Amino acid sequence: MTPPAPAHSADSLPARLDTARSDYEALLAKKLSLDLTRGKPSARQLDLSAELLSLPGDRYTSADGTDCRNYGGADGLLELRQIFAGFLQVPAGQLLAVGNSSLELMHDCLVHALLGTLPGAARRWADEERVAFLCPVPGYDRHFALCERFGIEMIPVPMTADGPDMDVVERLVAEDPAVKGIWCVPKYSNPDGTCYSDETVRRLAAMPTAAPDFRVFWDNAYAVHHLTDEEVEIADVLGACADSGHPDRVFVFGSTSKITLAGAGVAFFGSSPANVAWLRGSSAKRSIGPDKVNQLRHAMFLRDADGVRDHMRKHRELLRPKFDTVLRILAERLGDTGLATWSAPRGGYFITLDVPDGCAREVVRRAADAGLALTPAGATHPYRDDPRDRTIRIAPSFPDASEIEEIIEGVATCVRLVGYEKLVA
Ligand code: PLP
Repeated sequence: MTPPAPAHSADSLPARLDTARSDYEALLAKKLSLDLTRGKPSARQLDLSAELLSLPGDRYTSADGTDCRNYGGADGLLELRQIFAGFLQVPAGQLLAVGNSSLELMHDCLVHALLGTLPGAARRWADEERVAFLCPVPGYDRHFALCERFGIEMIPVPMTADGPDMDVVERLVAEDPAVKGIWCVPKYSNPDGTCYSDETVRRLAAMPTAAPDFRVFWDNAYAVHHLTDEEVEIADVLGACADSGHPDRVFVFGSTSKITLAGAGVAFFGSSPANVAWLRGSSAKRSIGPDKVNQLRHAMFLRDADGVRDHMRKHRELLRPKFDTVLRILAERLGDTGLATWSAPRGGYFITLDVPDGCAREVVRRAADAGLALTPAGATHPYRDDPRDRTIRIAPSFPDASEIEEIIEGVATCVRLVGYEKLVA
């Protein structure tokens, strides 16, 4: 986060409010209709994978001779798993390539843990009196939606610059056997771009938990989504769990949704041999095999780990200017107001904007009145309840550069309007 800047404008507070009001009137007069809500790749990013649309051509056998057109091959194609094993820090033999969405896999893992029995569990989660998950905040709204869907209680845990506050996490998992899991987006987290430190990973792996079947849902959605020259590496959580005597603790998730085609990619699940066998067995009832033709075309298109890196550099060339635009305008318009701080992520898809306490909903409302759709305030917190009502998620990937400029200028105006109104009141 940028440090809160002191307000050094020479204008008095009422004068600043007057200026913000007239800027807001001008914004309303523009009658904009722009959307900054979802973290989707833009059409130009999807174009980078255009070749996939004509692959695999007339080829249908994988490297080991599997006929990809047919049923079977529940683990997914080995050549694709080998490409992603290093990025996801899971040996290819413990990595499944299944379906097109990691969120679906997270959903399925919850369902199977509720209705079946996890390795190490005394009983099905559905038979527990209470099931709770730790939710580092700000976090990903769809994780929270899954918990709500299945009646899993959510316990917010504050984020630090190194990941979730591990003192809080360690205390909660040690004292409450109902705490069965934690959501983690360990690299370039959604939404604040945090990368977990090695120490955080070590503590997550080593901490004693009251629940014998506690799981870390390690959603490594942005494993290769760098925005700078520094390709951040995080510690190997699966190895750390095994080294700490908790080999079954972590479920690793990933996908190519924001690498190739968001609606037609490949998802991955990696874990200990026992957990992989558990998911394979549970999934065998719902599927006779994944879409191996899709996996084959992905393996042909991406080729190897360097192919993925080259491809992600092309994404970065499209994304970086958009993030820079957001950061530049925030600095220009809000930098000397003392009204906002924001993240400057080194990767991923989001920027968080923190406004004065009690102002986020009102900023989003004023922006909506001006035709600017922002992710609803509160979406970054369990039950949509941001107790300080201050965090706004900005998703710069989808709109084009000129739209982003217009939207962020408008958002900055709304922050000044709402912030000064509050200070004057
Ligand atoms: N996990 C995180 C943290 C995300 O931000 C997203 C998409 O925004 C997803 C998962 C969705 O991934 P998938 O498309 O593989 O379901």
